[in-house]
Amino acid sequence: MTYVQEVLEQAVKRNPGEAEFHQALREVLESLEPVLEKRPDLKEAGILERIVEPERQILFRVPWVDDQGKVQVNRGFRVEYNSAIGPYKGGLRFHPSVYLGIIKFLGFEQIFKNSLTGLPIGGGKGGSDFDPKGKSEGEIMRFCQSFITELYRYLGADTDVPAGDIGVGGREVGYMFGQYKRITNRYEGVLTGKGLTFGGSLGRTEATGYGLVYFMEEALKAVGKSFSGATVVVSGSGNVAIYATQKATQLGGTVVAMSDSNGYIYDKDGINLDTVRQLKEVERKRLKDYVSIHPTAEYYEGCAGIWTIPCAIALPCATQNELDGEAAEVLVKNGCYAVGEGANMPSTPEAVDVFLQHKIIYGPGKAANAGGVAVSALEMSQNSMRYSWTFEEVDAKLKNIMVNIYHNASKAAQEFGFEGNLVAGANIAGFLKVAEAMKAQGT
Ligand code: GLU
Repeated sequence: MTYVQEVLEQAVKRNPGEAEFHQALREVLESLEPVLEKRPDLKEAGILERIVEPERQILFRVPWVDDQGKVQVNRGFRVEYNSAIGPYKGGLRFHPSVYLGIIKFLGFEQIFKNSLTGLPIGGGKGGSDFDPKGKSEGEIMRFCQSFITELYRYLGADTDVPAGDIGVGGREVGYMFGQYKRITNRYEGVLTGKGLTFGGSLGRTEATGYGLVYFMEEALKAVGKSFSGATVVVSGSGNVAIYATQKATQLGGTVVAMSDSNGYIYDKDGINLDTVRQLKEVERKRLKDYVSIHPTAEYYEGCAGIWTIPCAIALPCATQNELDGEAAEVLVKNGCYAVGEGANMPSTPEAVDVFLQHKIIYGPGKAANAGGVAVSALEMSQNSMRYSWTFEEVDAKLKNIMVNIYHNASKAAQEFGFEGNLVAGANIAGFLKVAEAMKAQGT
């Protein structure tokens, strides 16, 4: 057994029953084998043993009162994973599937993603098993306030800066920011994704989706291809999916399918994004209702079927492990030549193997979806300066960051014998910066 495999086995043993976390650990550590061979100093300093262990893990009770006056209790999490290169940074996820293993997987991924942006942000993640679905405005507000009433003591603009993720958008960030300010009497950039009237950055809402398309456009360019004229399938219909669809369409692609947790819509003429936004963002309804507005479109129950739709480019933007080996085979068989992950770890390890075997252009989440957290870091910069950039300024910086991430990942892959493998390249490039900082700081 190699040294890296030993560290992996120990880490898995120490965190039993956390399948998603094990999956993320395995994926990252396996690509670090050649790095540790070339860098015995990092092995000697025990960087791997240290980096797999979060610096701090916070678990807490979140009691809140529902509209019937009944007390409800949820569980809150914040994993402050790594602060070698900056304050802990990463989103909060509110979803019934949330448990410590999910937060650890996301937090671990966040370390490398944040490092790849080139900006000074460490890695962290948090959330709750609270289900926002079907909750009233008042319930959402009371939950967010209770969540921050406990978590605020661990946060700070120079300590830990959360943002949104699944189930947490501008509305929730607003309530949490307000509660933080009320408790601490401090007006600081302690959360990102804030509203534009109170310190939010222009372009943050669009950033993950736009960034994903900028990243993929650069990767496609390297082989003489582009979004222009391409058929695209986007899973999900949340913030990431919506802006990925918008940018892919602006670049001349046709997005023919989108999904939500119940099923997917297929519109061969191209999805009408205004309708999707009205349904999902304003009315908070199901995607199923799209077909009553656009009768030529089709709706199918269940999410996995979306990958059977022939396309040139697939952008999984829903959630982890939504695209398995079988779906990957079908995609490739139907002519798909590029996959870009807007979600975190949406492809199973088997699916990733299929993409790599078939030499598909595969942009892993931690590189391809880093635009969201990158603009979060730009929001932090603007908050520190008490200044704000225009949309065009932010968008240009975002584009530049995504292009650099692609080239850095691509270069690292080549340097360590993984030519064309952006997963390994992203892991290596992200790891090296954090590893050097940890070694230098003795932390
Ligand atoms: N939740 C997003 C991610 O997975 C954004 C995090 C942030 O902006 O801090 O990267």
